[in-house]
Parts: sequence; C-alpha cells; structure tokens
Amino acid sequence: MFSGQKFVVIGLGKSGIGAANLLLNRGARVLALDENINATKPIDDPRFELHAGRFPSEFWKGAAAVVVSPGVPLNRPEFEAARHAGVPVYGEIELAFRTMPAGAGPLLGITGTNGKSTTTALLGELVKQHVPRTFVGGNLGTAFTLAYEKASEPPYAQHVIELSSFQLEGILTARFHGAAILNLTPDHIDRYANQQAYGLAKARIFDAQSNGDFAVVNADDPEVMALSRLAKVPLYGFTLDGRRTNPGFSGLAVGSKDKFAFTFGKAAVFTVKNRALRGDHNLQNAMAAALMARLAGIPDDAIQRGLDSFPGLAHRLEFVRERNGVEWINDSKATNVDSSLVAMRALKGNVWLIAGGKGKGTPYAPLVEAARGKVKGVLTIGKDAPIIAEAFAPLCPVHGCETIEQAVAQAAEISTPGDIVLLSPACASYDQFKHFEHRGDVFKALVRSLP
Ligand code: ADP
Repeated sequence: MFSGQKFVVIGLGKSGIGAANLLLNRGARVLALDENINATKPIDDPRFELHAGRFPSEFWKGAAAVVVSPGVPLNRPEFEAARHAGVPVYGEIELAFRTMPAGAGPLLGITGTNGKSTTTALLGELVKQHVPRTFVGGNLGTAFTLAYEKASEPPYAQHVIELSSFQLEGILTARFHGAAILNLTPDHIDRYANQQAYGLAKARIFDAQSNGDFAVVNADDPEVMALSRLAKVPLYGFTLDGRRTNPGFSGLAVGSKDKFAFTFGKAAVFTVKNRALRGDHNLQNAMAAALMARLAGIPDDAIQRGLDSFPGLAHRLEFVRERNGVEWINDSKATNVDSSLVAMRALKGNVWLIAGGKGKGTPYAPLVEAARGKVKGVLTIGKDAPIIAEAFAPLCPVHGCETIEQAVAQAAEISTPGDIVLLSPACASYDQFKHFEHRGDVFKALVRSLP
C-alpha cells in the first residue's frame, strides 16, 4: 500500500510503535522521532530509523505524511512548516482509518471528559452481542493502529473507538458513522488555551460525518449542546430529565433510576440493574451506548443482553467481594474529588470510605457534603490523610490508617452486615503506589485474602 514511501512518526509510545509497525508492514520506510527516549531501537527493521533527541530540521522533506502521537501538540512550528510544504500531518486514528481494508465496517466514536472508557467498553459489549467481529479500542485498551497492524488482518464489521481530544485533533478525514459526546467539564487546561478550544477539539468528531451518519449527545450538558450545533447529521440526545422535549432532536433516551426509554422508532424500555452500572453517571453512559448501538442497527434484545452481561471496568466502582454481608468496592480510578463525588452519589449509604493519597489541592468540602447521611466513617491513607481527616471530622468518625493494608484490616473489623467498604481515594496514588491501577490491585488482593 505504502511501498517505498517515507513516513515520519513522532513519539514512540504505544500508539507510535503501533503506527510504525503498521507502516512497515505495508512496505513503507519509517523515520521515528522522539525527544524523550533513550537511543535503544524498539523495532528491529532496516527500514526503521530512530532519531532520539531534538527533531532534525526539515525532517518532513520527502515524506508522504507525518504521523503524530497524541502526547505531542499539533501546533508545533515544525508541523506548520510541513503542512505548508504540502506534507499532511495527522494522528494515529487518521492513519488507522486510512489503512482500513476493503469491506471494513463503520466507526463508532466516543468522546467526552468523563465516562469515555466505560461507555466504549459497554458499547463494545452491546455491539458484540450481534456482531461478534467488532474491534473495541482507541484511547482505551488496544490502539486503533493495532487493529490492522498486519496488512493481512481481516476486516472488522464494526469499530468502537474511544477518542481523547488529543486524538481528535489529529484527524483529517476519519469518518464516524456514529459520534457521541458524553459531557464537557474543564480539563487539560494545561494544553488548551481555553475551554472553548478544548470543546472544539472534541467537536472534530463530527467533522467528516455525512449522509446516513448520526450524533449522540448529552442533552443535559449545556456545553455539549452548544457543540452539537456543529453536527450536520441527525441528533439524538440522552437525558435524566423526564420533562425534556427538544425539537432539535431526532430522538431521545430518557432515563430515571434503573431504567431508560427510547422515544423514537419502536418504543422500548431497557433496565439497568447490572451492578457494574450503578449510579446516574452510569445510567448516562448506558443511554449513550444504547443509542449508538440501536442507531448502528443492533436489535433491542441484544442491547438489553449486553447491558445485563457487561462486566464493568476495573477500578471504577468495581465490585470486589461480599464478605460477611459487607460489600467491598474498588474505585481507585477516583484520583480527584470530582470522581469520588460521582462514586458517593452512586451509593445509597452505610459506606466506610477509604480515601487519601497525593491530593490535587482542591477542597474536600464537596465530598464531605455528598457523604452526609451516607458515610459511617472514613479511613485515611497517604499524604493527604491529615487534610481529609480535618475535613471529615465534624461529620463522622475518622480512622487514621496511613497504609492501605491498615485501612483494609481496620475496615474489616468495624464494618457490619449491610455496609459497603469503598476505596475511592479522591487523590492520586503516586505517594504510595506506581499508579491508580497498582493501588486498586493491591486493594483487591488484600480484600480477597481476608479470611
Ligand atoms: P474516562 O475514560 O473518560 O476517563 P471512565 O469511564 O474511565 O472515563 O470513568 C472515569 C471516572 O469518571 C469514573 O470513575 C467516574 O468517577 C467518572 N464518570 C464516569 N462516567 C461519568 C459520566 N457519565 N459523567 C460524569 N462522570 C463520570
């Protein structure tokens, strides 16, 4: 396909290596540039050249394209020069899209500030009930470039892709048959000039859509609704507000408690009783995924089956174990106060909260407020333990535990049947763990080894 052509790959993380392999497997030559890598060559191929350190000048000369990893800003002057010289500059999603084999099915893309991974994995589950050969990945799990890394890979019938705003900035022609924006709250302010620029990056998911495509948006999120004006295709909304009607929509999913209904086509009500989908935030994720699935042609009974069988993602309100009538939940992904708030709102009460770690400097007061009437006590760990203890002291007993080992042992002792022990730290993990997955895994191992 690209026989003999030169491509430049910028950044050699997981997706950059995927892009390089995909290109090499199609006969291209690859010049890889990475400013932050030691000089060991991750790919052993005479057509692969690695240049570590500062980018050489005019590295793009003679290249068919420059493929940029999501970690690298696309507004660097070198890229502008390449574009100016007629060399396209794009990201790995665009590259993967361009190399999809004949007969490959459409793309269903999901973006937003929160809930992307959950919704992507769930939509994958729904679609696979009906279309077993579905690729699920992107920002989550397997990079999209790995779907067709080998040129001989048979086409997938559907592709469910999680997209970060960085990945979306790097698309030019990639077309999403279905495009969902879940929500939009301030994030990545380090990389974007302002909230509007961040939103516009997300809205690129709509850019290449055309006849026959559709968009799914959060009807309750004003920022998302503002962006939805950029969609040129029929718009479907999901809402938790039963009174909402909006003539701008081709259809709605309306949810409340553990149910939601579609207001278009054949009327249908779905139940969301799956423990992996607790909380209003997950009801929103479920409605987004179900809308995407139905509009992509998945029958309603397959959608309900997938809602019931979805195993959930690790570290997000993940059920670990029930022991002596006490439920243990791992929400280690909650690395900030907002995420722990979401967990707290999703649970009914009788909660022992294990929290703490490397705090982000935001106040804990909103979490204390949400915990009122729900939390029986707090067990603090890590660096921010004293600050969390002070915040919760007026509300409930606080047990200073320092380590997660002590917290699990103490919680096992003081909890009684009907209680929930929730690890939702509201803090990053780096003071005591490698990353949040490590923290969650240690927690789960401790909980499972309780006698
Ligand atoms: P992402 O991939 O966008 O980071 P995840 O699915 O991994 O999202 O969820 C991360 C955290 O975001 C969850 O632990 C939860 O606290 C919160 N979250 C999930 N879904 C939503 C939603 N629809 N709205 C708001 N917050 C959510």
